[in-house]
Amino acid sequence: MSSKRCPYCHEHVESSQFNAHCAQHEQIQADGQQEEYVTLPPEARSSENLVDEPQVYCHSKCGAGTQMPEEIVRSYLVNPYLYLADKTFCTGCGTHVPLRECQWVETGEDLQSHIDRHRAEKPEFRPGFATRVLVFLIHQKWIK
Ligand SMILES: [Zn+2]
Ligand SMILES: [Zn+2]
Repeated sequence: MSSKRCPYCHEHVESSQFNAHCAQHEQIQADGQQEEYVTLPPEARSSENLVDEPQVYCHSKCGAGTQMPEEIVRSYLVNPYLYLADKTFCTGCGTHVPLRECQWVETGEDLQSHIDRHRAEKPEFRPGFATRVLVFLIHQKWIK
């Protein structure tokens, strides 16, 4: 009998039950927020002190503030490519909005620039790193 580890609750789930198990986590709540988000297992998350890491963001279009869950902050500090949708939940809009439209209350930086900065520090986690660099270089050439 084989089992896989659930990316949401990090329990070991029998392979035949795995998809159904994950689907339960992926249900959208009545307020539009996905019930749970993929995180790294607790032992793999960043244990660093979060005093310098902003955790509350404001959506510029509606002005509402949203708290980033600590387990997500500690997960993307280790792997900034974990959340590739480049969208985040806004409690004001009740839906996911582009990171560019949100600013950290603590630093004033928009969330896209912030995650891009973290990604630049951890190229080893980048999916298909070599391919993306090539595309980037070609793009740079075109716009000059
Ligand atoms: Zn689970
Ligand atoms: Zn909003």
